Amino acid sequence: MRPSENGRCPGRLDNEIVLVTGGARGIGRAIVEVSLREGAHVIALDTDDEAGSRLPAAMATSADRAPGTQLWFRHVDVTDESAVAGAVRDVEHDLGPVTVLVNNAGRNVYADPITMTEHEWDTVFAVDLKAAWICAKQVLPAMTSAGRGSIVNIASLHATLTIPGMFPYAAAKSGLVGFTRSLALDVGHAGVRVNSVSPGYIRTALVDEYFAQHPDPDAEARALDVQPLGRLGDPREVAEVVCFLASPAAGYVTGADWPIDGGLGARFA
Ligand code: NDP
Repeated sequence: MRPSENGRCPGRLDNEIVLVTGGARGIGRAIVEVSLREGAHVIALDTDDEAGSRLPAAMATSADRAPGTQLWFRHVDVTDESAVAGAVRDVEHDLGPVTVLVNNAGRNVYADPITMTEHEWDTVFAVDLKAAWICAKQVLPAMTSAGRGSIVNIASLHATLTIPGMFPYAAAKSGLVGFTRSLALDVGHAGVRVNSVSPGYIRTALVDEYFAQHPDPDAEARALDVQPLGRLGDPREVAEVVCFLASPAAGYVTGADWPIDGGLGARFA
């Protein structure tokens, strides 16, 4: 890759406008950081204002950040279609059309399939599945008319292989992989690519909470025991793959689901 005049190699996402849902912390935050390093303007939508308020200051001093990139944080509940539409409208007005959407916001909710209420079911599916469609619906008109764009959905290893106690998270994430395939076929003719990634255990607050609340005190040690690489993943390791898939370097990849699970999905037992 040839350095530009300022000595910087071109980034994978130079001049892209990347919208990351759940971008204030965890995997979403890592995607924000890697996107900035790769030259994108980034909009992080999240409901965690506290984490969001720490985002711009931390990033402004980051040596990783490409010169001239911008970062916005906006409080948006991605299950609220009018709030998402308003945010996308403002981005289009101030920065230009969103060219990359990363549907990352999600909740790990596990419930008993018999006692779970319909309302609880709807709440899980609203974030883990329906929100991806709500966000895609808002950015796709500009992507399809420009004849280019990329959507990456953060699914989970639980979309294909799961363990007891993951109801209905595993069902929602399986739906997200189906959504990815279906949307990829419907918008491919317009030059828009749609892919998903399926992380295994990635060290974030969400996974720490999962182990902390697990009835088995050895749950974390047992999870580590079966990791082919002997460790959990880092959010940055997910972000690097997501940003590659989002970039023109992955121009012939669409409708795919990429595991990022340290080989856990390759195990039979
Ligand atoms: P975190 O809980 O650390 O971060 C998720 C962020 O999304 C939080 O800031 C959360 O805000 C926000 N969020 C949740 N609901 C909404 C909403 N309705 N609107 C806007 N923002 C929202 O999660 P992770 O970083 O661990 O996970 C990110 C994604 O990766 C999720 O989809 C998860 O299912 C998936 N994943 C994670 C794995 C892991 O091991 N960590 C493994 C496989 C998949 P708030 O704090 O307000 O809830």
